[in-house]
Amino acid sequence: MMLAAELTLAGTDVLIVEKRPTFELESPRSRGLHSRTIEVLDQRGVADRFLVEGTAMQVQAFAGVPMDISDFPSRHPYGLALLQSNFERIMSGWIDELGVPVLREREVTGFAQDDSGVDIALSDGRSLRAQYLVGCDGGRSLVRKAAGIDFAGWDPTTCWIQAEVEMVEQPEFGMRGGGGIGPAEGGRIGVTLIEPGVIRSDDEPTLEDLRSALIRVDGRDHGVHSPRFISRFTDMTRQAVAYRSGRVLLAGDAAHVHAPLGGQGLNLGVQDAVNLGWKLAQVVKGTSQASLLDTYQAERHPVAARVLQNTMAQRALGATDERTGALRQFLSELLTMEQPRKHIAGMISGLDVAYDLGAGHPLLGRRMPDLDLVTTDGGTVRVVELLRDAKPVLLNLGDRMHLDIALWAPGVRTMDAHFDGDWELPVVGTVPAPTAVLIRPDGHVAWVGEGTDAGLRDALTTWFGSRPREDAQQSR
Ligand SMILES: Cc1cc2nc3c(=O)[nH]c(=O)nc-3n(C[C@H](O)[C@H](O)[C@H](O)COP(=O)(O)OP(=O)(O)OC[C@H]3O[C@@H](n4cnc5c(N)ncnc54)[C@H](O)[C@@H]3O)c2cc1C
Repeated sequence: MMLAAELTLAGTDVLIVEKRPTFELESPRSRGLHSRTIEVLDQRGVADRFLVEGTAMQVQAFAGVPMDISDFPSRHPYGLALLQSNFERIMSGWIDELGVPVLREREVTGFAQDDSGVDIALSDGRSLRAQYLVGCDGGRSLVRKAAGIDFAGWDPTTCWIQAEVEMVEQPEFGMRGGGGIGPAEGGRIGVTLIEPGVIRSDDEPTLEDLRSALIRVDGRDHGVHSPRFISRFTDMTRQAVAYRSGRVLLAGDAAHVHAPLGGQGLNLGVQDAVNLGWKLAQVVKGTSQASLLDTYQAERHPVAARVLQNTMAQRALGATDERTGALRQFLSELLTMEQPRKHIAGMISGLDVAYDLGAGHPLLGRRMPDLDLVTTDGGTVRVVELLRDAKPVLLNLGDRMHLDIALWAPGVRTMDAHFDGDWELPVVGTVPAPTAVLIRPDGHVAWVGEGTDAGLRDALTTWFGSRPREDAQQSR
């Protein structure tokens, strides 16, 4: 849905094919959003829709050790507790407003690509023709498999059983059995427990399986009955070796799966979509060469690879033996220290992402801070407000610099403005104030001016094509 929104904002026709009848989810899955995800939603002017329905709180944790990010230089230095079904409902409302068509209760069953497009077969016997197909179809992605893309990584070592149930007697709420038992919605009780010896998540778990798991940790089943759902998940850790095969791309869980430790999977997928959307739109419109899509893999694959590593480390630290307990104790001491906390919390919150755009100013490749800019007429504008329509922005912050980008107008929004405060980046700290910045539609800095416009035209050509004026005329 995030990708569909991004493509629509960029003026590209898009269609979602979704096998589920509604956004309703059986199991809760994601319990919230991290800071960077809230920032990217803010860039599109929809963050408030999520913020009013969730609870802003310090949700970052590594191997169970909580980390406060309220001192991070972000407009949203917190996470948002919000169940995935609510997240998907709000997203669904937004894409409806944007006019994104959704073909529900239809499955993609296969595809064939050629030089000019992709023929996509649907479960109702019809077929669709598209210029590009993006598999956002989850960890068991048919698109990934049909594209022959290897899902490299590690088999599961542990399986958890998860359920929302009623019980005759109330168990003690708290952590145990590699998970815990606690209150759930509607007065029900939520259970998440390791099932030793089970390593597959695709067998349907039964109430009997849940009973056994409860007896193992509590010595009794508490009279468990009336499950709203029972499901399994594992710590399988895999990543697509390629995010693109010709006209077929992957995003979200289709591209990477890992244990849900630190609550990062959904956040990673949303940010994949924000990285890919504007690039794919430019390629579809002919503004940029298809090779621009290779930067999607170059930028996003390392980010997910890092999440895979950090979730495996967290999983290892979750072992219940005394030696691992001692290691966890040392880690929690380390995480009370400023730099280790910032380092790890920057990673979990997604605020530290830095795409490799070459050497240069520390802003290059990092997220543009949401500064309160003073405009030439004395007004103020937040940086994210300039990114609402998902277009690139060139900010001229110097006094007498003339930046000639006529060739790229009107595709690139330009603005003269001032900012007199400190330029602070999460984890990095204060950086020298630039005299200009070119911001990509995903909010990352593509070029930094340090007194001259050296390199600006190259950056514009790299990211926004060499014939933007003709494209702008065509798309009108
Ligand atoms: C127990 C648990 C807890 C989690 N907690 C968190 C958390 O706290 N924070 C977090 O960020 N993440 C969390 N996650 C991970 C998060 O749920 C996933 O990363 C996220 O749902 C991935 O989104 P996605 O859109 O890529 O894939 P999915 O959510 O799997 O969506 C794929 C969609 O594609 C549809 N589909 C599949 N195949 C086809 C087909 N052939 N044709 C048409 N439609 C198809 C499916 O119906 C589905 O709607 C958790 C996961 C689990 C299991």
